[in-house]
Amino acid sequence: MQGGSEMDNVFYRNLTKTYLEVDYGEGIYLYDKDGNRYMDACSGAAVSNLGHAHPRVIRAMTEQAQKVAFSHLSRWTSGPIKELADLVASLAPGSLNKLYLVSGGSEATEAALKMARQYYLERDGKTGKYRVISRWKSFHGNTIGALSMTGDKRRKKYTPLLLNFPHVAPAYCYRCPFGKEQETCAVECALDLERVIKLEGADTIAAFIAEPVGGAACGAIVPHKDYFKIVREICDHYDILLIADEVMTGFGRTGAMFAIEDYGVIPDMICAAKGMSAGYSPLGAVIVKDEIYETFKQGSGIFVHGHTYGGNPLSAAVAVAVIRTLIEDKLVENSRVVGSYLLEKLREKLQPFWFVGDVRGKGLMQGVEIVKNKATKEPFPAALGLAEKLTVTLMKHGVVVYPGSGNADGENGDQFLLAPPLIITKEQADELVEAMVAGFAEFDKSISQ
Ligand code: PLP
Repeated sequence: MQGGSEMDNVFYRNLTKTYLEVDYGEGIYLYDKDGNRYMDACSGAAVSNLGHAHPRVIRAMTEQAQKVAFSHLSRWTSGPIKELADLVASLAPGSLNKLYLVSGGSEATEAALKMARQYYLERDGKTGKYRVISRWKSFHGNTIGALSMTGDKRRKKYTPLLLNFPHVAPAYCYRCPFGKEQETCAVECALDLERVIKLEGADTIAAFIAEPVGGAACGAIVPHKDYFKIVREICDHYDILLIADEVMTGFGRTGAMFAIEDYGVIPDMICAAKGMSAGYSPLGAVIVKDEIYETFKQGSGIFVHGHTYGGNPLSAAVAVAVIRTLIEDKLVENSRVVGSYLLEKLREKLQPFWFVGDVRGKGLMQGVEIVKNKATKEPFPAALGLAEKLTVTLMKHGVVVYPGSGNADGENGDQFLLAPPLIITKEQADELVEAMVAGFAEFDKSISQ
């Protein structure tokens, strides 16, 4: 047995990296053990939407923990989960009124995948529709089912994946896979869904899953304004469910309660997690259309997907406090207003750097993509790992961004994500831009030598 203060027995995600030790958080800032302050400009992983140590959430947590922290869904319901379900039903679009609770984003997308399959089984009495189509440059979670839907480098070490799931073109306007410009295109990336459905056979496809604004795999890719309308029509035509993966975008991140609303489209299911409990307690959910729920109810009457922590009263009480704070403090609006201010400033101050290819995003979800050649958009060689180097430089300037996931396979660009807490003010946005400019200048020197 190994121990002692000099030993570190944590199995870290990156075994060769040294991690900073966090001590405490306050508002949009995190402090390390040496008292250094960092702006949490990515809310961890687009999670801490209310910032750190929010008094209202802490009060709700404490009160619920004193009453009862855990009761299992096999026997119990509770006040907090019923209150949360009513609250979410009042906010979600259309007839998305039923809330299935799990403990995180991957559990939510796995649950949606199983629900989609079971929906057709309950409805038609046969199991033929079993696959889910997703996009390249997408991320839907790290469990094997979720990874089968995911379309980025995270899949590589785990092939063959559990399921032979087809992928379609990403809605990646900066590097349009069809060589078009957003202003004049025919939204070919949305039409690609129909091509793949025809190729694979609609009778094998249960659902199409997509992030309304792409996150971890692409650095805030915002699809064409008509993208989801076309996708919705295709799904309806071929009798395929549309799942909006709002694990990152849900609950205000992009300046709408749910990002898909800005496209004027109602999906059949929404996956949520992260911002729903804002990092105070693990939580994930699938928000389900009444019709799907009724099909289950009138069919076998059961959905077998229990996870031990799913529907625990503590996380539910936290989520109620988080969502009520979002509404009462008008933080979704803040996300929209400060988000567009921040995007404008980032474009103004960062785009002049010779290596900044694209600055994009919606609300408080922004991405920066760096390139070797601005005119041709040629990426840097993958082996240089420059997005990671840039994010490390930014940390030296007191800013934490979501590490770039691109360019390890030569297909993705080098990018990183910005997703500050939704409580950020314009003054703090200015502070963020200033620190980033200083970090970019240092990075510029280091790569130009
Ligand atoms: N789906 C999306 C869109 C995500 O961004 C993530 C996490 O980043 C997940 C699913 C997986 O969520 P979790 O890490 O909570 O399992």
